[in-house]
Amino acid sequence: MRQRTSNPFHVGSNPAGGAEELEMGTDYHVCSHCNETFYYDEEDIVACGDDCNRWWCNPKCAVEDGYRFEDEASCNYCRGEEAEDTDLFKFLLKKYNLNRGTVLKQYLEQKERT
Ligand SMILES: [Zn+2]
Ligand SMILES: [Zn+2]
Repeated sequence: MRQRTSNPFHVGSNPAGGAEELEMGTDYHVCSHCNETFYYDEEDIVACGDDCNRWWCNPKCAVEDGYRFEDEASCNYCRGEEAEDTDLFKFLLKKYNLNRGTVLKQYLEQKERT
């Protein structure tokens, strides 16, 4: 487990409700598993490798999300066992020779009917 103990962006008592600041460089992350927002300096947080933007609020969430502490700690994305939905979506578009506009149109049409 790797913990970030020092964080140059930490601003102490950051008032809640700054959801628009959810980007790199801010002092909190969203748990990949439970979507809980947490701060760098909270105990028990788990961060995957530097090339991976996955964070968890505690080891339980990390493990439930497919993170392994054994051997070389890694998440199931880093091990190549999982993929983001957006990547799956792009894959399907290519595989079935579709484009996003066509799918979107069909989706919206169906949504209207239901
Ligand atoms: Zn969590
Ligand atoms: Zn990872």
